[in-house]
Amino acid sequence: MTIEFPAQPCPACDQEMTVTHEDLHYEECGLPYVVLKNIYTERCECGQIFRTIPKMAELHRLLALQLVKKSGPLENFEITYLRKSLGWSKADLARKLHVQRTQPSKWEREENPTKMNPQNDLLLRALVAVNNRITSYVDNMENLNVKATRPHVHRTLEASIDEKGWHTEELEAA
Ligand SMILES: [Zn+2]
Repeated sequence: MTIEFPAQPCPACDQEMTVTHEDLHYEECGLPYVVLKNIYTERCECGQIFRTIPKMAELHRLLALQLVKKSGPLENFEITYLRKSLGWSKADLARKLHVQRTQPSKWEREENPTKMNPQNDLLLRALVAVNNRITSYVDNMENLNVKATRPHVHRTLEASIDEKGWHTEELEAA
C-alpha cells in the first residue's frame, strides 16, 4: 500500500522535503531483525527525516504473534518484547510465572542471558496467545520446537502493508 501525503515544509528549516518510500530496519521495536517495507519517508536537505508507520498497534501485535509461533527458544530480546506486549514489568512477569523476582532480568539481559527453560518459554507464549485470543496456539503447542537453535543473526522478518493490513515474511540468509 502506498500512502501519499502532500510533502510538508520541514519543521526545522522550512524547506520543501523530498518524499520517498524506503525500507526501514525497525530496531526501535526491540527486535533486531525486522524490516518494514516501503515506508513513507520525508527527507530534508538539513538532515531531518520523518517516517510514517501506519497501523502501529496492528504491526506490533503481528510481531508478537510471530514470536508465539516461532521455531527455536525465545531469545533475551524476544522475551522483553513479549513481556512488554503484555504490559508487564519484570516484577509482574516474575509473579505470573512464580519465579524469583530477579529471574526476568537474567533472561533479558544482553550479556550472558540465562536460557529460559522450555516450560516457561511455552507458558510466556501461551500468555501472549491468550491475551491476543490466538485460539490455535494450544493445539499447535506440541508441534513447536522450542529447543532448536537458529540464531537470529541469520534471520530477517519483512513486514509490509497492503489494503488488508500488515503481513510478515520470514527470510533466511543463505
Ligand atoms: Zn530541513
